[in-house]
Amino acid sequence: MREIIHCSIKDIKPDVDIILKSQGVFTPPEPPEKINALLDMSMDLFGKLSIPMGIISEISISEFEVVYSGEGQNEKNTPVNEIFRRADNLALFTATLGEGISREINELFKLNEFALGCMLDSVASEGIEKVAEIAQNHFSEYLSKSGQTTPSTRIMRYSPGYCGWHISGQKKLFEFLHPEDIAISLTDSFLMQPLKSVSGVMIAGPKEIHHFEDNFPFCSKCSGHTCRERIKSLR
Ligand code: SF4
Repeated sequence: MREIIHCSIKDIKPDVDIILKSQGVFTPPEPPEKINALLDMSMDLFGKLSIPMGIISEISISEFEVVYSGEGQNEKNTPVNEIFRRADNLALFTATLGEGISREINELFKLNEFALGCMLDSVASEGIEKVAEIAQNHFSEYLSKSGQTTPSTRIMRYSPGYCGWHISGQKKLFEFLHPEDIAISLTDSFLMQPLKSVSGVMIAGPKEIHHFEDNFPFCSKCSGHTCRERIKSLR
């Protein structure tokens, strides 16, 4: 299975609370007027400039072994390395908001419009997560419709550049997935263009396989420990 997914803007409306939290705004019930104005402008630009789409492509465990080994720079022990061989199904994915919004964020910073640039950056980061969620839902529906799930099946996403999977892993991932079909390319330093794009693997299997402790050597440098929330949400 390989599918190109087109999303509508209304389906990826970013969550305002998460955006404000990422901006360090914790002032319930209402944020200050100036912040609200920046948020409104950013939401407007997000709606006008985003062209959200993605690709999902199923991959076997043996094929993913090659993709994951990448350029040989991963940490020795990682969550993905512990989990993927116990998975029932795997899929590579990528998602993007298109070039327009990334270009606008760059322009705002060049023009010293830092407040609006930062807010738009947060809105776009939250928006791209929504596109990845839609891609994950497609994979989940595909597995369910083809009778490949059980009541215990859960899916988690992992990306090169995080949790011990070296960023250079993007090279092999791109060779397998061909994100150029939706105009995503890779720079020599393995960054995606457009910048507001994500990629990685979706791991599907019994919920038990997704549990791990956050005590890998690299976890001590992790500021968010977001894996805790993600694992909790699998319940
Ligand atoms: S603590 Fe951070 S680095 Fe460690 S597994 Fe969780 S999210 Fe990844």
